[in-house]
Formats: sequence, C-alpha cells, structure tokens
Amino acid sequence: MPRRIVIVGAGQAGLAAAAKLRQAGFAGSITMLGDEGLMPYQRPPLSKAYLLGKLEADRLSYRNEEFYRHEEIEVAPGEAAVEIDRAAGEVVTTLRRISYDHLVLATGARPIELPAPMAAGISNIFYLRNRADADRLRPSLKQGARLLVVGGGYVGLEVAAAARQAGASVTLVEMAPRILNRVAAEPTAAYFRNLHSAKGVEIREGTGLTELTVDGARVTASLADGSRHSADAVVVGIGVRPNASLAMQAGLAVEGGIVVDAFGRTTDPHIWAAGDCTTFEYDGEMIRIESVPHAIDQAEHVARNVLGAGRAYRPRPWFWSDQFDTKLQIAGLNRGYDRVQSAGGPAESSMTISYFLGERLLAVDCLNDARSFMQAKRQLGL
Ligand SMILES: Cc1cc2nc3c(=O)[nH]c(=O)nc-3n(C[C@H](O)[C@H](O)[C@H](O)COP(=O)(O)OP(=O)(O)OC[C@H]3O[C@@H](n4cnc5c(N)ncnc54)[C@H](O)[C@@H]3O)c2cc1C
Repeated sequence: MPRRIVIVGAGQAGLAAAAKLRQAGFAGSITMLGDEGLMPYQRPPLSKAYLLGKLEADRLSYRNEEFYRHEEIEVAPGEAAVEIDRAAGEVVTTLRRISYDHLVLATGARPIELPAPMAAGISNIFYLRNRADADRLRPSLKQGARLLVVGGGYVGLEVAAAARQAGASVTLVEMAPRILNRVAAEPTAAYFRNLHSAKGVEIREGTGLTELTVDGARVTASLADGSRHSADAVVVGIGVRPNASLAMQAGLAVEGGIVVDAFGRTTDPHIWAAGDCTTFEYDGEMIRIESVPHAIDQAEHVARNVLGAGRAYRPRPWFWSDQFDTKLQIAGLNRGYDRVQSAGGPAESSMTISYFLGERLLAVDCLNDARSFMQAKRQLGL
C-alpha cells in the first residue's frame, strides 16, 4: 500500500483523484500542488455565467476549506511542480522537494496562442482557460464594445454568446469551412450559426486571421478574405495543448498528451495521469477528451488503480455547452461516423442529431432536448 501520494494540478481531475483516494480508504498523505494560487474550482462557468457576472467567484469552488481539512488533503495552490526526479521518487516544486510513492499528473491544458509575431505588442488579446483570464476579459464585455472572437469551437461560441448578451457587438471568425468543424456535424453547426446570427453575432467562416495591428486603443484585424475589422478586444479560442512538459522532461511517453494505458498509468509504473493532459487508446486510436465528466471519471479510475483495483478505464463521454437560451448536451463520441440523422430543425427550438457508423449509434447532440439526451445516454450505456 502506498503511503505518500502527490497530485500535480489542483483542478478538476486532481480534486477527483484526491477525493476518491480518501473515499476508497487511503489513509496515507495526499498533497495536491497547484500553480494558479486558487483552490480547485469549476472552469465551465468561466465562459458562461461567471463571464456574464451572474455567478460570484466563491461559487466557483467545488469544496470549502473544511472539506480539505476533514479529508486531510494538503493543497498547496501556489506551488508549481517544476521537475520530477524519478530516480529519487521526488517532485521538485518552486519551494521544496516532496517524495512520493505514487504520483498523479493532472496538469490539464493551456490555450494555443496566436503566433508571437502576430500578437507582439498588443495588450487586448485574450485567452480563456482560468479564472484570471476570465477576470481580465470580463470588463471588455459591455454595451457598445466591439469584440472579435477568433475560433468557432465551443469556447469561442460561448464567449460570443456571453459578449452579445452583455451588449457588445461581436464578430466571430473561423478559419475552417464552418464552425464546430472538428467536433460536430453540419446540422449542429447550422443550428448554432442560425442561433448566433439571429442574436446579432456576425459569423465569418472559411476565413482566417492574417494580421493584427494596433490602432490607438483598438486592434484592427485583417482576414484572409481581404476584409478588416476593428475591435476593442480580440478573444482567441483556437484549441488547447495538454500540459505535458513535466512528463516529457521526466522521459515519460508523450504523444500529443501524456500517454496512459487503460489503467491510467504512464510509462513509469509509479506515475499516473488523468484529465485533459492525457492521451489514451480508444477503439484502436489514440484520443484526448477535454470534458469535466471525463476528467472526473478517469481520475477516479486512477485513484482506485493506484490502490490496486486493476480496473480498465472505458470513457463514458458526455459534454454540454450553453449558448444564449440553448443547452447542447452531447452523449458519446462522434468519431468515425458515416452518417448523421437529424430530428427537429434549426428553425425549431429543439433538435437532435444522431451519429451512426453503419447501424451502430455512436453519439447524439441534443439541443434543448434533455429527454433525448437521457435516452441516448441509456442506449449508449453511459
Ligand atoms: C472556458 C471553459 C469552458 C469549459 N466548458 C466546459 C463545459 O461546458 N463542459 C465540459 O464538460 N467541459 C468544459 N470545459 C473543459 C473542462 O473544464 C476541462 O475538461 C476540465 O477542467 C479538465 O480538468 P483537468 O483537471 O484535466 O484540467 P484543469 O481543470 O485545467 O486543471 C489542471 C490544473 O493543473 C494546473 N497545473 C498545470 N501544470 C502544473 C504544474 N506544473 N504544477 C502545478 N499545477 C499545474 C493548471 O494550472 C490547472 O489549475 C471548459 C473549459 C474551459 C477553459
């Protein structure tokens, strides 16, 4: 039985691993290291209610201080891990060396940034990954402000919706032929295109950002189609990269994420990983999943396996996104589908898009359709 477990990353997966270790009866020491200076908190509201000022900062926290005290989980929220000394079985932090019997990496991901020459010297470019980012962005979401959102994935669309609700005028540009190109089928994209257009968001698809220039307090963006847009703020949501540098420096396998086996173990039997930072095999290919339910599930599996359960992890993916008055709920993984079937339509308030490979249902996007979502979850065994 291990005695000392160190968790790097005080986020969703880190907390889920720590809580499950205690729940499963682990009586040794648990130390959770964070680099944001904050106790674990929810990220989804950062692009939704929190960004709109409808949720206070203290409501973001998962647990109060009493929980950590009671569970004897030592959280060091401002003590980043800077190196793993595998030979010594120690994590080197900004303050000390901590020895571990097992180490769990739950380091999450960080936004992909614009190329440095494009962004050089421009202060009103924003990314959105953590609370500090949201606090910085929030004042730009106001009546009369002009916002340019770069990237038509879920985070970009959610920020566009929040900004519009706050009274800003919003243009969203997507380099791919359409919004949600990587993550959803055309009917889902069409629903959101219509929704955003109806609410006054200007969506420009199939055109990338080529240049940014500062123009007084404003930024002027040049697009590949030759158009120019002036904005008070540019929000970039073009995807994330897993935080895998600690693992890489320690010589663990990293292939677009920290590679873990079915049990959540890295290529070192004493080091495990969970959440957004991991990549793992699913139906014959290496995948990454960026979602809260996956981060929790995988971290809880890791916790049990650290204690010897030997249980393989099979993701039970689901996800949600809130934009204006629409709730999207996704069940399953829509990878490798060969056809989609839609019920309802973009003009209607609810719609369901089902993804199939042959006759096998892989995933469902449910728009304002909680009942179909629950049915799909059952059908998919999630
Ligand atoms: C704006 C936004 C909206 C989202 N909306 C949704 C949604 O609606 N639904 C959904 O399912 N998912 C959503 N997600 C995704 C979801 O939040 C993530 O999938 C989830 O947080 C992943 O958990 P994690 O623990 O792997 O990573 P994180 O929650 O990112 O936690 C990782 C932590 O580790 C820290 N860290 C990194 N390196 C070190 C180090 N060396 N030392 C110490 N600490 C370190 C990081 O700073 C971070 O605090 C959203 C994400 C964002 C950013």
